[in-house]
Amino acid sequence: MASHATGYDVIVVGGGTAGSVLAARLSEDEGVRVLLLEAGAAASGLPDAVATPPAWPSLVASTANWGDRTVVQDASGAPVPLPRGRGLGGSSAINAMVFARGHRSSYDSWSDHGAKNWTYDDLLPYFQRSETAVSRAPGRGTEGPLIVGPAVEPNDVLLACLAGAVEAGHRRAFDISGGLEEGFAPVDLNIVDGRRQSAADAYLLPALGRPNLHVVTDAVAHRLRFDGDRCTGVEYEADGRTHTARASGEVVLAAGTIGSAHLLLRSGIGPEKDLRAAQVEVFHPLPGVGRNLHDHPRANLVYSAQRQVPTPRNNHGEILGLLRSRPELDGPDVQIIFIDIPLPNPVAPVANGFTIGVSPMRPVSRGSLRITSANPYAPPVLDPNYFGEEEDVRAVLSGIATARRIAWSSALAEWGIEEVGPGLDAVHDQSIGDYAKKHFGSYCHPVGTCAMGEDEVSVVDSELRVRGLDGLRVADASVIPSIPSNNTNATVYAIAERAADLLRRR
Ligand SMILES: Cc1cc2nc3c(=O)[nH]c(=O)nc-3n(C[C@H](O)[C@H](O)[C@H](O)COP(=O)(O)OP(=O)(O)OC[C@H]3O[C@@H](n4cnc5c(N)ncnc54)[C@H](O)[C@@H]3O)c2cc1C
Repeated sequence: MASHATGYDVIVVGGGTAGSVLAARLSEDEGVRVLLLEAGAAASGLPDAVATPPAWPSLVASTANWGDRTVVQDASGAPVPLPRGRGLGGSSAINAMVFARGHRSSYDSWSDHGAKNWTYDDLLPYFQRSETAVSRAPGRGTEGPLIVGPAVEPNDVLLACLAGAVEAGHRRAFDISGGLEEGFAPVDLNIVDGRRQSAADAYLLPALGRPNLHVVTDAVAHRLRFDGDRCTGVEYEADGRTHTARASGEVVLAAGTIGSAHLLLRSGIGPEKDLRAAQVEVFHPLPGVGRNLHDHPRANLVYSAQRQVPTPRNNHGEILGLLRSRPELDGPDVQIIFIDIPLPNPVAPVANGFTIGVSPMRPVSRGSLRITSANPYAPPVLDPNYFGEEEDVRAVLSGIATARRIAWSSALAEWGIEEVGPGLDAVHDQSIGDYAKKHFGSYCHPVGTCAMGEDEVSVVDSELRVRGLDGLRVADASVIPSIPSNNTNATVYAIAERAADLLRRR
């Protein structure tokens, strides 16, 4: 993976979820020379915990995380850690391994931004192409590289939570990963034979022997090169030197919601005012770059238990539910996830217990990503503006009320549980909302900084081409104009599968 040849048909920047798919799919055609640049390590250089599902929380403190933090959030008065993966596999190598399509209603809203042909039905062939779903549920893929299925032996405490949800009147879903259902069920996971299957494992590693695929790791893309309006290559640093790789076809940014917008801005593509403030020469004004940053915040209810919670074997969050905070909505806007460890909470440490996470799935709060200079090593200024809009607080309050009804069900009575955080002193919306706003974390699903569509914040068109430029596309979580109602990774796989088709057709 070391030599630095310079001429390619396609250059893919970023070897995470989307970049792994793109590099593997595009290099299936042996006539297409593909270069993949990844800032982080090769798979063999990543921490052992990557492969060990229950160990994933430790990865946020490792070199496989870029280590970003947001600016101080008005909601909490503190910055919020915003992890993202660094290394082959990207965030799919450090994430919590939940694999779920967004609810179909989520994709309908992409059309509101002007994205054409990106409904759930349009995406369905790409969802299917990415996966082999062991459930063989209707509408799921049967031949894709990702082998996905529910936890083999779910934790008993999580099964009790599921029973509690049903007892509290919620629907027992059959396939909550499929994008068509609401209710509670075990969710599919990216775990195969007890080990994580990242995007690199499923897509990239099997393709590494192809002579037309060149992967350079520990290679940080600094900026894009242009000839007039055409993107002709990428300047990057590797082995302590600066290199320029040239693309005769296209450059595709797959550096993620933070990385792709950051690279565009450093290359002088973005809102003029922001670029000037950062003393970056304006190459191509594009007001939407870095705008529209949004994420799922997640508040956690933490319970102690008298009965011993079995040792976690999987990803901790094996079972979840999607629900509507108001019946008149056209789809779910709240996710409740059951977690088989007691997460840290501000009230008291819990030695034995579990957590119920509550996340607004359709946040309306929008923030931004900005740069302070063209220095690729200067971290971007990240402001997701969590809970900036009262509607998001309302959704989380509704989810917390539901979570508590589940916790009080007879299904959980034999566990001898007690709510420690926030604790039952928090009875009014004001105090519960204050707890959620002060102690939430990122669910690590940032999207939207290079949004697809035709509105004022759109950065790419419906074929993922950067507006006003040639030979440059973005294909990763950053193009998602509004976040899907579920965890984001399965959607990014589908976007990348589709992007590969778009590139092949060019
Ligand atoms: C801790 C954590 C837990 C999560 N849990 C889940 C979950 O359980 N389920 C789920 O669905 N989603 C989860 N997510 C989110 C999900 O993993 C992401 O939405 C998805 O992986 C994003 O894919 P991507 O291709 O857009 O970006 P990434 O996978 O982040 O890939 C971007 C890649 O680009 C590289 N890069 C960035 N800048 C440069 C540069 N200048 N030069 C070269 N390379 C660069 C990065 O190092 C990285 O490898 C989680 C994320 C995290 C961080």
